[in-house]
Formats: sequence, structure tokens, C-alpha cells
Amino acid sequence: MSHDCLFCKIARHEIPARIVHEDDEFLAFHDINPAAPVHLLLMPKHHVASLAAVGSTDDAWLARMLLLVPKLAFANGCNPLPDGGFRLVANAGTEGGQEIDHLHFHILGGARPWSKRAAPAA
Ligand code: AMP
Ligand code: ZN
Repeated sequence: MSHDCLFCKIARHEIPARIVHEDDEFLAFHDINPAAPVHLLLMPKHHVASLAAVGSTDDAWLARMLLLVPKLAFANGCNPLPDGGFRLVANAGTEGGQEIDHLHFHILGGARPWSKRAAPAA
């Protein structure tokens, strides 16, 4: 854990968050500035800077994290397919738009329109 990292502080419950899921490895909570009707953040509790910082020894927990995504999306307001769905985003680095240097997935969904922040680039 990193003492100065905001998301590590959330993982340690030192900063409040609207938590929707917690287990030994992961925490999911509502984004404080949602870009869509459903906007969750899912992160590992241990400090990992970004998806650019993972390697082959991270495969098992990364797979478990990915498998949580559809469960959390549909349990927290994303509508069923085919008309509903969700978007999964992971920003990495400055040009990737990453603001918090602790790996997290954005899980976005709900009825459109969404904010331009979450709109497709093209
Ligand atoms: P990123 O740009 O991918 O690093 O995304 C960081 C996200 O964290 C942004 O969408 C912020 O709105 C969100 N955020 C920042 N601080 C908090 C907080 N204290 N609780 C919940 N979400 C936060
Ligand atoms: Zn951290």
C-alpha cells in the first residue's frame, strides 16, 4: 500500500466512498464525478500504478478482477443486453487520461446520453 495514494486510503477506509463491493482483494465504489448514470470504479486493494505496471505474475488476480466487471455492472444499474450493456475503461498514464495512479477500471452504463467525458472519441 502507498501511504499517499488516494485510492489506497479508500482501500484502508481512511477516506469515505460509496462502496458497492468489497472482498479480500478488490474494492468497487461509485465515482465521485460520474460520467454516466452508472459509473463505478473497481480496483485492487493492493497498490498497482496502472495497467502498464502489471506483468505475467499478475494474471490470476487480473482475471478475477475482470470477472467481477459484468457482475458489478448488472448488480448496480446497468441494463440487460441487448439494449443495455456497459463500458469498461482503464486509463494509463498522462496521455491515457489517468488522474489517480492506482489501477482502476471504470464501469459505465445506464440510459444515454452520457456526459462528453464518457463519449466515444470518434
Ligand atoms: P482516472 O482519470 O482514470 O484516473 O480516473 C479517476 C477517477 O476517480 C475520476 O473519474 C474521478 O472522478 C474519480 N475520483 C477521484 N476522487 C474520488 C473519490 N474520492 N471517490 C470516488 N471517485 C473519485
Ligand atoms: Zn494506491
